[in-house]
Amino acid sequence: MRKHPWIFSGAIASVEGEPRPGETVDILAAEGAVLARGSYSPESQIAVRVWTFDPAEEVSGEFFAGRLERAVEARGALLSGEGPPGVRLVNAESDTLPGIIVDRYGGFLVVQFLTTGAEYWKAAIVEALSRLVPSSGVYERSDADVRGKEGLAKVTGVLAGEEPPDLVEIREGPCRYLVDIKRGHKTGFYLDQRENRAMIADFARGADVLNCFSYTGGFGIAALRAGAAKVTNVDSSVDALDLARRNAGLNGLAGADMENVEGDAFAVLRRWRGEGRAFDAIVLDPPKFAESRSQLMRASRGYKDINLLAFRLLKPGGTLFTFSCSGLVTAELFQKIVADAALDAGRDAQIIRRLAQASDHPTLLSFPEGSYLKGFICRVA
Ligand code: SAH
Repeated sequence: MRKHPWIFSGAIASVEGEPRPGETVDILAAEGAVLARGSYSPESQIAVRVWTFDPAEEVSGEFFAGRLERAVEARGALLSGEGPPGVRLVNAESDTLPGIIVDRYGGFLVVQFLTTGAEYWKAAIVEALSRLVPSSGVYERSDADVRGKEGLAKVTGVLAGEEPPDLVEIREGPCRYLVDIKRGHKTGFYLDQRENRAMIADFARGADVLNCFSYTGGFGIAALRAGAAKVTNVDSSVDALDLARRNAGLNGLAGADMENVEGDAFAVLRRWRGEGRAFDAIVLDPPKFAESRSQLMRASRGYKDINLLAFRLLKPGGTLFTFSCSGLVTAELFQKIVADAALDAGRDAQIIRRLAQASDHPTLLSFPEGSYLKGFICRVA
């Protein structure tokens, strides 16, 4: 057994009894030995998610307390330091807690329970978490689409303590950001890009920066703080752009040259190409284009198109920060797509750095699917 935490329904010869959704079941080898223990999900193609490969380990409230403690301890360095940080404390499968996400924003914890097993143990997990990490409140954002594959409805709301205010402030390097825990994307912020946002500082001084798929301005604020001459944020969400404006104010950048453009990035970039606009640095951080294998071709075309448009808008010697958060698009495939885009744009470019998700979003070696975010910093000739 390679200790992969997913067992697909097609790999199961028979189910004994009638386990309820989320109930803990033993996984037996053909000859009867217990191989692992996991949670049962009758509606999902992933019929079991493994909690433990140790047949002697009981799955109980105490079990979750131990696993949570291990995950939180591993974030030690990120949790120390001054100011209220935003940090991922529990990264699901990769922290050997399938389906469970815990993020901390200032004094609040935001949790997602994405599988039947996580849902089944919710009360015990929240109880253990509250003991382990003192907080003003624990807020649930189990409104991700993947819940549907498990037969679970979307739920949000307070699980412990106080309701978070509309906006919570976090610190990230020299930057501060306001996070909308209750209505923002995912749990409120794209913490996985923390280390990559910091890297734009090296390319920002005096630069005219296009921050495409900007959300609440993350890369743009980091660029302005590092001395960018101008930042143009493009996003389809007005709420996100409003928050980008407020984030600028929070960082003492109210007077900075920041333009916010609401619209479809594909259309906006195409229009600017026609107008002859050009930038020193461009960030492309689109949403997940490939949700399933059947969407891979279409997603690849989407990545190629947007990268092609960006290459055409870069000044000679300019820098492209380009990302894909689709797990199904491997780094190798993404590199091919970006290479094709440069070729079609008639630009020579080099990769000068390879990027991935931040260190508080680790990948368990036995769970390669955990590496979903990949990116390149490219320099055009
Ligand atoms: N870089 C951001 C995160 C980007 S998430 C950060 O560091 O915080 C992707 C963003 O793309 C979301 O804000 C979403 O609103 C936006 N988006 C999705 N489709 C879009 C489209 N077609 N055109 C422009 N923005 C889009």
